[in-house]
Amino acid sequence: MTILDSLSTTDEALPDIYPLIDTHTHFDAPVFDEDRATQVQKAYAQGVRHLVLVGYLYRHFDRMYETEQSVNKMTQPIETSDNQAQSSLNTHIALGLHPFYIDQHTEKHLTDMEQKIAAKRPLAIGEIGLDTFTDEMKEPEAFAKQERFFKVQLDMAVTHKLPVMLHIRKAHAEALAILKAHDYDAHKLGGIAHSFSGGEQEAKAFVKLGFKLGVTGQITNPNAKKLRRAIQAAVDSYGVECLVIETDCPDMTPIMCQTSDNSQSALGQSPDNEWGDAPNHNRNVPANLPWVLSTLSELLSVPAAELAQQLWKNSCNALQTDWAYPV
Ligand SMILES: [Zn+2]
Repeated sequence: MTILDSLSTTDEALPDIYPLIDTHTHFDAPVFDEDRATQVQKAYAQGVRHLVLVGYLYRHFDRMYETEQSVNKMTQPIETSDNQAQSSLNTHIALGLHPFYIDQHTEKHLTDMEQKIAAKRPLAIGEIGLDTFTDEMKEPEAFAKQERFFKVQLDMAVTHKLPVMLHIRKAHAEALAILKAHDYDAHKLGGIAHSFSGGEQEAKAFVKLGFKLGVTGQITNPNAKKLRRAIQAAVDSYGVECLVIETDCPDMTPIMCQTSDNSQSALGQSPDNEWGDAPNHNRNVPANLPWVLSTLSELLSVPAAELAQQLWKNSCNALQTDWAYPV
């Protein structure tokens, strides 16, 4: 089911189209293998101009590079509505070992990852952090390993002067303590607290450290009251400059694009299948990103055109790039 298909079953009107950066995706996941080219065209048509493929397991790093190459080939050139093939959907790589999969990571993965970074500079290090979503992860041994891998990957970010993409779930205080004690300085190197899920105080604490808060399709759910309050509070204190948006596809499908109650295929919820049996009709896709923009625009009372331009700037700032805003 695509966004256009799903729209035929809802009353929602498509949001307006503005240039956007999808700062966090897993577009290399096999769940996109059958129609990746179509999804690239749809994403482009919805304004998505840059898309970051974010690492989580070492064994998938090569798959990410293959996806980057194939998508970049698919998009050279894309015909725009006025037949100007001047731009395309640019794909980028972040390399990282995700805390949820800590039992699958080895010391060798860390050294091999460092070699890959030295050989070909990625856009960022990620996703890295702490996650105590399940009881097993709260076990002292597992959590200690998460902390160690988090710190070593922060070290790599400092050594290579790269921004990090944080995955922090149910471990905000512990993550903030590590970040405060570490040499990694997000004010200088950038960084994103991806799919931010904490409360108001935590939101402000990450922004204070220099991170942008990554907002996903979760914000489109009117019941996500804690998240909405946290984002609003951060913006009240620090301005819209503290936000970026992301799909985190194939997860976090915006509520207006969901077609059944069974919407949770989330990374971290079903680690064994890694989306292998995620129901296709609830899969999130990069083309759904405008729904995050339009919901934020409404929530924060900032016109979508203005917000889109600011989010572009924020993303470049967080990722230490200077991508030109398409006019
Ligand atoms: Zn992710």
